Amino acid sequence: MDLGYSEAYEAFRGEVQSFLASAWPLAGDEARLSTAEQHALFRRRAIEAGYLARRIPRRYGGSEQEPDVLKATIIREEFRAAGAPGDVTGIGPSMLVPTLLERGEEWQKERFVARTMTGEFGWCQGYSEPGAGSDLASVRTRAELVGDRWVVNGQKVWTSGAQTADFMFCLCRTEPEASKHAGISYLLLDMNQPGIEVRPLRQITGESHFNEVFLNDAETPADWIVGARGEGWSVSRSTLKHERNSIGSAEQAVLFFDGLVKLARNARRGGRPALEDPAIRQRLVEVEGLVRAHEYSGYKQLTASARGRDPGIIQLMNKQLTTRINHALSKLALDLADDHALLAPAEWVRNLPPTEAGVWMAIFLESLGGAIAGGTSNIQRNIIAERGLGLPRDRAAQRA
Ligand SMILES: Cc1cc2nc3c(=O)[nH]c(=O)nc-3n(C[C@H](O)[C@H](O)[C@H](O)COP(=O)(O)OP(=O)(O)OC[C@H]3O[C@@H](n4cnc5c(N)ncnc54)[C@H](O)[C@@H]3O)c2cc1C
Repeated sequence: MDLGYSEAYEAFRGEVQSFLASAWPLAGDEARLSTAEQHALFRRRAIEAGYLARRIPRRYGGSEQEPDVLKATIIREEFRAAGAPGDVTGIGPSMLVPTLLERGEEWQKERFVARTMTGEFGWCQGYSEPGAGSDLASVRTRAELVGDRWVVNGQKVWTSGAQTADFMFCLCRTEPEASKHAGISYLLLDMNQPGIEVRPLRQITGESHFNEVFLNDAETPADWIVGARGEGWSVSRSTLKHERNSIGSAEQAVLFFDGLVKLARNARRGGRPALEDPAIRQRLVEVEGLVRAHEYSGYKQLTASARGRDPGIIQLMNKQLTTRINHALSKLALDLADDHALLAPAEWVRNLPPTEAGVWMAIFLESLGGAIAGGTSNIQRNIIAERGLGLPRDRAAQRA
């Protein structure tokens, strides 16, 4: 079996390489712009050339390309090799944008999509509350329509990135008399207003990426609502589907695995590189098997999404795989790194490739959150069992 790219794809790779050779890094006066400005400028050019925002229609600032998993992979590989900024990642592009494209008003798409894709608008997700996590439909944050504005009161928690976000998409109770699921609306809020207070929460790694968000008479215009009033629950289902899509991607696992192999090459066991130790090789191969299976399963999920088909439970299974792999990878890395792993400053995780022994402790600690974020593993396993495999409902969960 030949797993190489065909000639046509290699020709495409050549086009990407020559675009990058002329477009990145920026030169002359442009090289004196701030890093954020350089990235935004380069991204606009890469979108124009058809390399970024490929699934976004042109009228909303994307490059509207035919879905092609292999081309997308080649672009990512070449952009990474050139150190060029790729598609903006995070909550805005991966969750809000697809939700707006699916359910938003025309003016909402025009106003928010393009600037989210270039990184100018940052978003946070206001779903969870102290009494509403797995049981999300229990949200109690109230929004009342007063004249032409919604007035919002309540509290969100675990809100990733709220400390830097420009906007929040959130679930609020707008019809208190309606049944639990029918009384919710999906609102967009400007974070820069006196009615919103963000308090960082300290995480196990020592960093503070998520927050409590207090909404005290926060305001938002009446038409900053996605979907109809009271339809927020079904809109939130679209966002969660896209969240699991992005959490389920194998890209990070592949990157971490490459780092793990480098670590095994550099670490010593009995005076020899750990990579030569049969027990370590066995564990590496087990992890690699999972990573490769996840890669192909990720392609399957992506292909289904790109063709407009519902990927079904495969996206939930991929999220489970990601959680399991990140945990197994980082545990093996900790064994290889020994006490060097204890030296990890948490910030390294975001700024360095995972080749340094010390980074792995932070990756390990972060991997624990993967079993909770975007829906806990317990809940997801129940959904896979019940809706995917048709097993009877979990009686313990029904009693809870
Ligand atoms: C790193 C990270 C980032 C996050 N970012 C965001 C964010 O940006 N925005 C946001 O809104 N939220 C965010 N969250 C919150 C996350 O969505 C919730 O933590 C998650 O939905 C679980 O809710 P909970 O914490 O209230 O736990 P609970 O729902 O109280 O669950 C507690 C335990 O009970 C189990 N359990 C509960 N109900 C059932 C059931 N019916 N069947 C079986 N087991 C059950 C759960 O599996 C879990 O083990 C983030 C969380 C993490 C860890």
